[in-house]
Amino acid sequence: MSEEKIYKGIAASPGISIGQAYLYTRKQIFINTKVLSEDEIEAELSEFKNAIEISRTELTKIHNIAIERIGEKNSKIFEAQIEILNDNYFFNNVLSRIKREKRSASYVFNDEINKLGGTLLTSDDDYMRERFADINDVKNRVVRNMNREKLVSKVEENSIIVAHELSPSDTILFSRRKVQGYATDVGGINSHAAIISRALRIPAVVGMKVISKFVIPGQTIIIDGFEGIIILNPEEKTIDNYEEKLRAYREQEKKLIKFVYLPNVTLDGKPLELTVNINVDDEMELMRNLKECGIGLYRSERLFIDRGDFPTEAEQIEEYSKICAIAYPKQATIRTYDIGGDKLLPSSEREPNPFLGWRGIRICLDREDIFREQIRALLIASVKKNMKIMLPMISSIEEVKQAKIIFNDVRKELDRKKIKYHKPTPFGIMIEVPSACMLADELAKEVDFFSIGTNDLIQYLLAVDRNNELVADLYQEFHPAVIRTLQSIVTSGHKSNIKVSICGEMASNSIAVPVLLGLDIDELSVTPGKYPEIKQIIRAIRYSEAKELIEKITTYTTETEIRKEVINFYNENVKPYLK
Ligand code: PEP
Ligand code: MG
Repeated sequence: MSEEKIYKGIAASPGISIGQAYLYTRKQIFINTKVLSEDEIEAELSEFKNAIEISRTELTKIHNIAIERIGEKNSKIFEAQIEILNDNYFFNNVLSRIKREKRSASYVFNDEINKLGGTLLTSDDDYMRERFADINDVKNRVVRNMNREKLVSKVEENSIIVAHELSPSDTILFSRRKVQGYATDVGGINSHAAIISRALRIPAVVGMKVISKFVIPGQTIIIDGFEGIIILNPEEKTIDNYEEKLRAYREQEKKLIKFVYLPNVTLDGKPLELTVNINVDDEMELMRNLKECGIGLYRSERLFIDRGDFPTEAEQIEEYSKICAIAYPKQATIRTYDIGGDKLLPSSEREPNPFLGWRGIRICLDREDIFREQIRALLIASVKKNMKIMLPMISSIEEVKQAKIIFNDVRKELDRKKIKYHKPTPFGIMIEVPSACMLADELAKEVDFFSIGTNDLIQYLLAVDRNNELVADLYQEFHPAVIRTLQSIVTSGHKSNIKVSICGEMASNSIAVPVLLGLDIDELSVTPGKYPEIKQIIRAIRYSEAKELIEKITTYTTETEIRKEVINFYNENVKPYLK
């Protein structure tokens, strides 16, 4: 019997889970060599056809994006890869071999591709030899698509996923198998996989460095998402302790729910709007329990991540109307696609620096057709008059002006076609890039509201990758530069009489709430699981004391001093009033 081992990482999503480890290795290509029984053949054939179809869709999308970015000529490789998938002779040959030899699709496909590649590999022509890599790439994609379904379906309920890395789509995909926890070697607290874990209320610990090397599939594992701890082979008494902790946590959650029905106002009568961020369907369910709660951030790219492609206009209208109906009579702030960074599909091409690359509004303005379609769908769904539209990753005035031209054009088109929509639908932007902070005075004159994305703002301001566990200590919400920047954004917004909200994860950090209140932020948009607790905190603070806190910390020059003061304030002025 192996002994209990404790490992420390970064707490990314609160909660405790005890279960069996499932080791997820994305890069490994698994070729199933087993001989099939007669009644397995039909399913194998249809799985193969399905994998070809998915691979074709992925490659077509990559091809289109590649044409946009590197031109038609340089994108021929993807065309050639799609041609392989379109080769009927090749395809039918694989199908008849599966039937005849009763071997798995991945086995036959791998064998046929190797034959094809073999002739290229032995060719005298350098160019032909290089094409081998391209063919191999297609093989890996198709086999991966065949295995992906098998990998996921093999996950038993209540498993805890251990992986080197998880993408946001992996996180969502696994949650459909009711997994109980995530532990990864890499990743930071504000990676999108971590945000999605919190949204799904699945405990997660990230930045474990090499945990995926130690875990044996099926091993018992405890995830403590409060402390950022993983325990392998826990002893009986450790399991008992954790079960007790879990019971206490659930009790506390039940107590908090009563705050949902009380107003968002401080002890001395200052209101602070409280809304929620929506990433996944489960959060909409959770919202139904929150009385009259608006949406401060709906990440529309979830539609794209979920399906692996852009949704149609009709699907978007349906979704956005549903979002507005759920939030009604409160606001529903819908953000246009923020694709890129770590929000990629498994098939997306990697950029050397994706967070500094083709992302958010940049993609929207380059792919105007997609952006126009989204704006049109949003406006058509705005008839309940509670929608707000928000643009991500703004870094210049030109971007806002260009987006506004498209926005106004779409409005004219709808007027012409006599399609109903809410004409004064507010149009705002995220402030999350340092250049936008510097231009906040001017940007405030162009838009109806600001929403600060602290997740990105902190990473860009401090030059600290939000996904990189090696620099996680340097990702500091209470860095003096962050506090001063937040203050200056609020001042710029209020000078032009527009509201300033925060929809980054800092708004969901309990000890940061007095700071954000004292900085005169108008609205906090938080992860729904934290909504009752944040409301309880707002109701326990005095605005006048939060202002004094800001007076003090804006004179400090180090993060250590500010953090110490903020923690003291929380312990003395907030904690005693939480019941
Ligand atoms: C942010 O950057 O704070 C934000 C809310 O946007 P996202 O996390 O989706 O990048
Ligand atoms: Mg962001």
